[in-house]
Amino acid sequence: LLDLRPITATTTTTCGYCGVGCTLDVHVRDDTVAAITPTHGAPVNRGHACVKGRFAHTFTSAGDRLTTPLVRRDGQLVETTWDEALTTVARRLADIRDRHGPDSIAMISSARATNEENYLAQKFIRTAIGTNNIDNCSRLCHAPSAAGLTAAFGLAGGTNPLDDLDHTDCILLAGANPTEAHPVVGARIKQRVLAGARLIVVDPRRTELAALADVHLQARPGSNVAVFNGIAHQLVEEDLLAHDFLDRRTTGFDDLASLLADYPPEAVGAIADVRPADLVTAARLFGQAEHPIIFYGLGVTEHAHGTDGVRTLANLAILRGAVGTPGCCGILPLRGQNNVQGASDMGALPDVLPGYQHITDPTTRARFEHVWGCALPERPGLRIPQMFDAAIAGDLRALYVIGEDIAQSDPHSSHVRAALDACELVVCHDMFRSRTAEHADVVLPAASFLEKDGTFVNFDRRFQRVRPALAPLDHTATDFEILQRLATTLDIDLGCPTPAQAMAECAALTPMFAGLSHQRLDAEGPLHWPCPSVDRPGEAVLYLDQFATPDGLAALAALPYLPPGEQADADFPFLLVTGRRLVHYNTGSMTRRTANLELLPTETLELHPSDAARLGIPGGAEVTITSRWGQATLTAHPTTDVAPGQVFAAFHFPSAPINELTSPHTDAATDCPEYKVTAVHIRSAVDW
Ligand code: SF4
Repeated sequence: LLDLRPITATTTTTCGYCGVGCTLDVHVRDDTVAAITPTHGAPVNRGHACVKGRFAHTFTSAGDRLTTPLVRRDGQLVETTWDEALTTVARRLADIRDRHGPDSIAMISSARATNEENYLAQKFIRTAIGTNNIDNCSRLCHAPSAAGLTAAFGLAGGTNPLDDLDHTDCILLAGANPTEAHPVVGARIKQRVLAGARLIVVDPRRTELAALADVHLQARPGSNVAVFNGIAHQLVEEDLLAHDFLDRRTTGFDDLASLLADYPPEAVGAIADVRPADLVTAARLFGQAEHPIIFYGLGVTEHAHGTDGVRTLANLAILRGAVGTPGCCGILPLRGQNNVQGASDMGALPDVLPGYQHITDPTTRARFEHVWGCALPERPGLRIPQMFDAAIAGDLRALYVIGEDIAQSDPHSSHVRAALDACELVVCHDMFRSRTAEHADVVLPAASFLEKDGTFVNFDRRFQRVRPALAPLDHTATDFEILQRLATTLDIDLGCPTPAQAMAECAALTPMFAGLSHQRLDAEGPLHWPCPSVDRPGEAVLYLDQFATPDGLAALAALPYLPPGEQADADFPFLLVTGRRLVHYNTGSMTRRTANLELLPTETLELHPSDAARLGIPGGAEVTITSRWGQATLTAHPTTDVAPGQVFAAFHFPSAPINELTSPHTDAATDCPEYKVTAVHIRSAVDW
């Protein structure tokens, strides 16, 4: 039945799902979300929103939402008061720190939380505990982007705004399926292609955009570096180079040209299982375009050589002079979660303070120490995979997890569970009793993004306001409030009692954010970083004068193809690739509690019909998938979207625990896990 009672309030905020960062109007009736509509005139989404942002909001009033803190007693999580929960956490953290030192405690902050909450989280762990053991889930997705883009250009973000899509004539989309994972960007890419732009897709799956592409390089999982080097080889071979730009603004061309001699189309075709002629066509389309733009996603980064993938993809933009030039279109990483860019920007990382200011730099440390009023630890802390290893080794005793369900989202799940169980103390903030919560000693009921005040940074470096459309559900609290109350319980004053004051403090300490404030964002709308002063707009297009590298030049990288951590073999003859579905989001904790569940009630394993026929597995049959690391059972879905010898599944459902299978292999430079290549074997779960 239609509810015709009037809307009582409408609040403009930023979507809490993916990194596109759509601006949404949340319409509330009687303290319940009645509807969400895209905000007209919003710069990112221009009046559009997808099935997640627009319709998947009823999780806020789900019956199983946590409204009481839980503590473990006699092996069971039981309800308790906030005072007792916070006192327990404070007492046990202090005890572990006193017995084992501050580095025996670690925190995983959240890409779902606001910038202000991430700022407070890293301030808490560095000042109240005294360790740099803090990381966020960018470790699991775009850490190679931060490392690769910083090495190539100087800053840890995309080079250009999304709006540059409006004047591109060629889109190179690598390792990303924005139609499902970043739907508003996917729609804008599709519109641009329909308007005449050429499209090159590099992806092992035949995605919707791949089907629309001029060239689809359906490259074997793990072969990106060879493919990007192959395209670069052809750009050099056919002299499709921006010579003046290369001469004036870059380094490393000679070394790269020498390496590229080893990557002719035939050689790359053999490595990547693509047709050499398609590689040549792709290189010509990209090389002859006047305004090429590159979008890429986790299919580039989540590899054992993910940072090399980012560097070799950045090479293509540099060879064409497509960065740091007026009218150029640049290279943009499609960040996954709503605020994964911001969590890193705020210093929720083990080696940098806000604004990527390195913790080992004494001048930087002194500036923060002066304002924060205490000495800061100098030694970089642990990355997330290192935290798990340290817990199992007995060196890490307490793990504090804010809003992440690491037991479902992180690879090699049995290892994660072992790490959680090895800790003396596991604390988590969550809206629901997640898989991670099942291993926790204290669970603190958290507010949703619809109940928060602050900012997110989207994938093209835009700070955008987050405003509370609802009051926090009774007896829940925002992550900001929880951290403040915990610090008070520890008898520590974290300062900045409001999110606006946290942003002001961060801006005062961080030159690249110095011009940002809630007041300014409210008055002017979204602003890109860097935003170094209040009288300047943020820089949407980077590097127009010079690159931010030490020598001011863009750095080409001569990097060879190296094989992935695992390859198909006789024992494990298939390669598993994991990814996302349109109607669900990450671990599904929010979308599975909405009507989106009716659109996709469970996960399936995609496999090629020829493989299904050969193995005698009909569609809808239960299949057991086994890797060297674990096992899972899913329903078979034969489809030509995957290549023979490959299988695909998403990680949205605890009932289809695909990360039981994924491997512990990580990117050598950043420890980002290799979610995109796991060798598996499959068999029917029942006899037919
Ligand atoms: Fe939200 Fe992303 Fe959908 Fe936009 S595209 S509405 S940010 S989930």
